[in-house]
Order: sequence, then structure tokens, then C-alpha cells
Amino acid sequence: MIQYHSINGQLVPAASAALQVNDLSILRGYGIFDFFGVLSGVPLFFDDYLDRFFRSAGILGLKLPFDRPQVIGAVHDVIRANDMSDGYIRLEVTGGYSPDGYKPGTANWMVLGAHPPKPSDKQYVDGIHLMLYPHQRELPEAKSINYLTGIFLLPMLAEKGADAVLYHDNGWVRESDRSNFFIVTRAGVLVTPREKILAGITRKKVLDLAGPLMATEIREIAVEELKEAEEAFITSTIKGVLPVSRIDNRPVGDGRPGPVSRDLGLRFSELTRNYILQTTQV
Ligand SMILES: *Cc1c(COP(=O)(O)O)cnc(C)c1O
Repeated sequence: MIQYHSINGQLVPAASAALQVNDLSILRGYGIFDFFGVLSGVPLFFDDYLDRFFRSAGILGLKLPFDRPQVIGAVHDVIRANDMSDGYIRLEVTGGYSPDGYKPGTANWMVLGAHPPKPSDKQYVDGIHLMLYPHQRELPEAKSINYLTGIFLLPMLAEKGADAVLYHDNGWVRESDRSNFFIVTRAGVLVTPREKILAGITRKKVLDLAGPLMATEIREIAVEELKEAEEAFITSTIKGVLPVSRIDNRPVGDGRPGPVSRDLGLRFSELTRNYILQTTQV
């Protein structure tokens, strides 16, 4: 159970952690966030996530009333106050209390502890189903708090028996609602889209791991190319490497998770363990 969050640099009991109703995140959906794991009390790949957090804020033009050391301090406050060994942290910055309901005020920022549900073992073993849907996220390189389309699609996903959506735009595959997307081609090349996506930290780590092992390409993927793919998987902080066995009504490859997905999934878990070992030894 999470007992404390940090709001504007102050620890507050989770039950009373709140923003006023005139915050622009509530009125207009204006804000950014980031989200990372904590293992053995250590924030995973912390620098990568902090870099992206500040990059997202810059893309929205949010003026920040705090600096990097203050965020780091607040993250450690929340980990300590909750005695958090394993869990997740959500950093968020909002447009603040708006004087007129539209213009940003002084940004509010928070550090929230979380224990979100993870995919089931069965999903890793069998792979998940994706539903194609035409959509291009706005300001895609920013991790904004706007998940309007993804949440709007939840009933349609349930109706179709799909686990997540795969966005495409003008014939080009982009990403899932909260994850990045990869295929392995028949020639054994690992491919992930280049543009108009949120550059996932998990995506980056998986590309780094795959680099010495196999050919990798960061380029556009045509929707048509999905039919030819040998394997597919999605990546995210919570999911790690999660195999995709079906896209709409078509199986991916033989309809079973393949060796590349499995191997990269194992290597990614090993990378996180090594990160913790190295960080705790220093
Ligand atoms: C968070 C997110 C991802 C995955 O990024 P990670 O850093 O790997 O968690 C991908 N796409 C979108 C739209 C996201 O919000």
C-alpha cells in the first residue's frame, strides 16, 4: 500500500494528496508525466527517465518551479516514506492553477508511488492480441497525460477480445497506446518505427541489447508489412518485452511467441538486475 506521495516537494499522506479543481490537468488535460520502476529501493534507469521527463516538459513549454536535484530528492523521499522495495513511481507536472481556465499558472508537480497490475504469465507465454486503429498521438515525442483515444477504445478492445491497440497513421505503424512496437522480419531483422512516437526507455534498452546480436532497423513499418512479420512484441516499463501473437484477425508468424521475443525479454530482465547490482555496489 502506498501511504505517502509528494506534492510540490512536500510529502503528504496518500489519502489527502490532492490538487485544486482549477488545475489545468483537470480543466484541459494539460500536463506531462513519466513512469519508472523501483527495484530493491533503487529507481531503474533513473537518468534516462529524468531526461525524458524534462524533455516532455520542454516540448509542452511548461515552466518548471523545480530542478533536477529537487525531483531526485522527492523521489527518494517517496521511496523512503513508503518503505518501497519494489514498485513504481509516477512523476507528473501539470499546467497549474489557471487564472482564466485556459492559461497555465505555476506548474504543480508530484511524485506518486504506485503498484500497478502487470501482464499475466499467460500473456507472456501465449502472446497478446492487438487491434489496429488509425490514430496519431498529438505532440508524440512528449509523454503527455492525454490518453483520450486509448481510454475511449477500451470498450471496443473488450468487444473484439484484444488486449491493446496498435496505432497506425496513413498506412504507417506507430505504437501501442502505452507501449512501443517491434517486429522481426522473415530475414531476421528487428525493426521498430522511427518517427511520431514516444521514445520508450524500454525500447531504447531493447535496441541496445539487440544491436550486437542481430540486424536492427529503426524505420517506418507499413501496415502491409505486418502480414509478413515472423514475430512482433511491444515494450514498456511495466510490460518489459511482451510478445504479440495476433494483430486483428491474423496470427503473427505461426501464432506463437518466437525465440527473439523470448530471448530479448530474458536479456532485458537480466539488464535490470545488473543495473540494480551495479547501482547498489557504488
Ligand atoms: C510510456 C509510453 C511508452 C513506453 O515507454 P517506456 O519508457 O518503455 O515505458 C510508449 N508509448 C507511449 C504512448 C507511452 O506513453
